Amino acid sequence: MVIAGAGMGGLSAGIAMGLMGQEALLVEKRDAFVELGAGIQLGPNATRILERWGMMKSLETHAARPERVEVFRWDLDHALAQLELGAHFRSRYGAPYLTIHRADLQASLLERLQAIGQTELRLGTTLTHLSDLGDGVELVLGAQKSTSHVKAQALIGADGVSSQVRRLHWPAQHLHATPHLAYRATIAQNRLPLKWRQNSVRVFMGPQMHWVQYPIRSGEWLNIVALIEAPFDPNHRSAGLEEPLHQTWHEEVPLERRREHFRGALKGANAQLLELFDAVEAWSAWRLFDADPVRGPEHMALGHLALLGDAAHPMLPFLAQGAGMSIEDAQALAKAWSQPMLSVPRRLEAYGQDRWRRNARVQSKARANARIFHASGVLAGLRDWGLRQMGEKLLDMPWLYGHQG
Ligand SMILES: Cc1cc2nc3c(=O)[nH]c(=O)nc-3n(C[C@H](O)[C@H](O)[C@H](O)COP(=O)(O)OP(=O)(O)OC[C@H]3O[C@@H](n4cnc5c(N)ncnc54)[C@H](O)[C@@H]3O)c2cc1C
Repeated sequence: MVIAGAGMGGLSAGIAMGLMGQEALLVEKRDAFVELGAGIQLGPNATRILERWGMMKSLETHAARPERVEVFRWDLDHALAQLELGAHFRSRYGAPYLTIHRADLQASLLERLQAIGQTELRLGTTLTHLSDLGDGVELVLGAQKSTSHVKAQALIGADGVSSQVRRLHWPAQHLHATPHLAYRATIAQNRLPLKWRQNSVRVFMGPQMHWVQYPIRSGEWLNIVALIEAPFDPNHRSAGLEEPLHQTWHEEVPLERRREHFRGALKGANAQLLELFDAVEAWSAWRLFDADPVRGPEHMALGHLALLGDAAHPMLPFLAQGAGMSIEDAQALAKAWSQPMLSVPRRLEAYGQDRWRRNARVQSKARANARIFHASGVLAGLRDWGLRQMGEKLLDMPWLYGHQG
């Protein structure tokens, strides 16, 4: 088996397959694993699987365990609603809610992959072409100075939102640019006044924006994401990525435009947001792309090919579950693969059957959250009333966190 892309999904797929004794070749176009300056939330649906893969000890040295989720209006100091994430949450779902720096999660996944030892990792290698031969796949892999042709039983496209595998094998599936710009930053908590140091996930919702902050790096740092609606400008510059229109990418926002975005988003904001904004030294901006929810198993697996993670189901980060779904996908793929009496296409089909509805539901919920989080006027009033009345019930999502793959 060949897995294209060593992001969260590809590394997870290598681990899940390796634990079953399945060898794989994992190709990654980047030359090295670079440290991405951002955090990631992992619900118990994902940490349950990571625990099963024997990774909890390594995760616990880096991750934070937030005590609760607190939801605020952007202009008020007291929370509209909260959900406890501590011992009760863990015993309810059998796994913890963790927040972690992406680089730490990536390093833990890589370490586990290498310890299992069933996957050959080739960095600096890009999958460029593929053909389904009917009894396997033939792939063209490009490295800096050479091109090689490889035959394999199956190809798993875990090559992210701009997936080349999806483009070649599922050409009718399209991405579109959204008006959402994600500004990300990290800041050492010891640089903040005591009153703003925290061990919770805080969400602030305002008109056409929301802001999320949570601890990472054992709680020593705070990760901040400000999602601001700013019209997509096709003439903008992208940084470091060759195919901007098919990528969630790092957008170079001129300083004056960035100031304008934050001026609009933080108009009337409470003291906490304004002071944290002033404390941040550097923001990076990411344009968000979206795709329609998966419509059937054949959109995740066809013949000797399957898609996994963002390649299969790009989603807005309004439910903080993209990486979580790629981890769930990987576990489901390994389960489907462990049926040797089935042909490869049947095994992959079983994987698609298992996953497509779940991924479609999460994609749809993330889209719905985008409308609710950024609402204004009457809709915002209803949202806030609902959160005050039934906050805990709305924030706790057994269908999401209790999923057993
Ligand atoms: C602002 C923001 C906040 C988020 N917050 C959360 C969160 O809190 N929780 C959560 O679960 N998710 C979150 N997500 C989503 C999460 O980041 C993604 O869903 C996750 O990274 C997807 O992993 P992946 O492996 O599918 O794709 P990627 O991480 O994009 O990995 C794809 C890999 O494939 C490689 N590649 C691409 N093309 C090729 C090719 N042709 N050949 C070889 N290699 C190739 C790339 O270099 C890359 O390494 C967030 C996303 C954003 C934008």
